[in-house]
Amino acid sequence: MKTDPAFSVSPAHPTGRIAPAVRHGVYWITFCGVLGAGCSEDSPWVETRHARIQGEHGVCAGLETYVDERIEVTADWFELEPGPKIDIYLGQSYVDEQQENYDYPIGGIASRRNGDVTVYARGYNLGHELVHAVRFSNGLVLPSLIDEGVAKLYDGGEFNGNGGGISYRIPEGATLPDDPHTATVGVAATFTGWLHETLPHEDFLRLVNDPDLNREYGAASNWERIEGATGMGKEVLEERWASEAQHYYSEVPRCRPERTHQLEVGEPLQIEDTVSCTDSPTTFGPYALLDDVVTTEQRLHCFPFDVPTSVRITASGPPGSELVFYRADSSCLTSTPRTEETDVKRIELGTTAEFVFGDCTWVGRVRSEPDTVGEVSITMVAIE
Ligand SMILES: [Zn+2]
Repeated sequence: MKTDPAFSVSPAHPTGRIAPAVRHGVYWITFCGVLGAGCSEDSPWVETRHARIQGEHGVCAGLETYVDERIEVTADWFELEPGPKIDIYLGQSYVDEQQENYDYPIGGIASRRNGDVTVYARGYNLGHELVHAVRFSNGLVLPSLIDEGVAKLYDGGEFNGNGGGISYRIPEGATLPDDPHTATVGVAATFTGWLHETLPHEDFLRLVNDPDLNREYGAASNWERIEGATGMGKEVLEERWASEAQHYYSEVPRCRPERTHQLEVGEPLQIEDTVSCTDSPTTFGPYALLDDVVTTEQRLHCFPFDVPTSVRITASGPPGSELVFYRADSSCLTSTPRTEETDVKRIELGTTAEFVFGDCTWVGRVRSEPDTVGEVSITMVAIE
């Protein structure tokens, strides 16, 4: 099936902006010439170990690092190898250009044509599209029930808007689709998440890495392969999925282990980082937030807390940068209502502040304007 086009489309994201319908030729560059801003014929490709990147607002050194890292950890998780270089267009205008090919709102796309894999994404869904891309570049073009499922299961990564995974409540009487390639994202994510939890790992990998489970082969063939790999008929799969599946699955921690810190009472933790789009391997971006503000972001640090903990934080860094702590989605041990403990925490650089962190995993972000250069220093100490 190497010559057949294969597309994967991310779920819509409420950006509130849809591109004007601009006709374009074979080359995206035509479109960019029309659109102008932020995306010009002068934009150079930035080449990394596993990708070539065009960034609507440029390509920071940390974006290159992040892309290679995501491709490698994703390939590793599926026990695949990174394939040929993936072309990545990062920015809303690139996604908008693709929109005209779809009659429903898209958030990002990974596509495969003649073996070449291309990703169009924004910062928040780059990790998700890269999961599709790594699989496409290995010739794995599975029906959405599995392909969208594994992308959701493994689409974490620091800069994903939802922190990875998906929350989906399985409605009463929910059914699996007749054609596995017509599965909605919620069904795909919970079905694949449930399979991942239920099947022995090697069986799960055999299923998701089966090149004969292909969206071009049709519903009957694909159900047959799913039934064969799981040892369960469709009716059993449907009944067990509907009754046993969780609402939320994610296999990717928000942070890499090397940036996850367990704070001990009385033992100060110091984090030093360099902000520089051109030079720092930890500066990701630039990318536009949902309000269109263009920013860079330092690689995130994570802080899991088992019990509510008071923490004193001293932070310094370049003017205009911002340090914010958010709860990672679905990470709280007790579901507290919104209180001081679970609120977002912002600290002005150059000051000291004290906060109570609820029993959740917290994510620390430093955001800066794209041309910011400087050192960030953060000291945190748990005080009770
Ligand atoms: Zn997807």
